[in-house]
Amino acid sequence: MELTLCLIKPDAVKRNLVGGILFMIEKAGLTPVAMKMLKLDQRLAEGFYHVHKERPFFGELTEYMASGPIVAIVLAGDNAIKRYRELMGATDPAQAADGTIRKVYAVSKQENSVHGSDAPETAAFEISYFFNATELVG
Ligand code: UDP
Ligand code: MG
Repeated sequence: MELTLCLIKPDAVKRNLVGGILFMIEKAGLTPVAMKMLKLDQRLAEGFYHVHKERPFFGELTEYMASGPIVAIVLAGDNAIKRYRELMGATDPAQAADGTIRKVYAVSKQENSVHGSDAPETAAFEISYFFNATELVG
């Protein structure tokens, strides 16, 4: 059993897509074990995406991530990190495979509806960024 962090990003929450995205996640056999809605401020968004701080899109990305409510979800499952990355699809929805969350719902490379951890180390950091150990259930 592995844990990974999913964020439903502001573009998707604004368009009432939380249920649709959770439906795809649960249908794929990944199980939520913690969940909350929150609104990041600029500082929290910058801390979450600190690995990208030298990238040209960092300012726009963190502004967008702080632009409205998000939903943070911890997902559990065998090989959950890789399976959820596959379900999300490529960063740019134009490149995302059919049936992936980003292909179905994303607006653009930036407003791409969901985040997913990319490795065990980033999953551990990202889960602890939003949740205490006592908030994980199941
Ligand atoms: N992003 C962007 N422009 C780019 C690359 C990424 O706006 O050229 C945004 C996009 O929202 C992406 C996030 O920055 O999801 C983090 O980028 P990463 O390369 O880690 O993509 P992901 O892991 O989310 O597929
Ligand atoms: Mg990433």
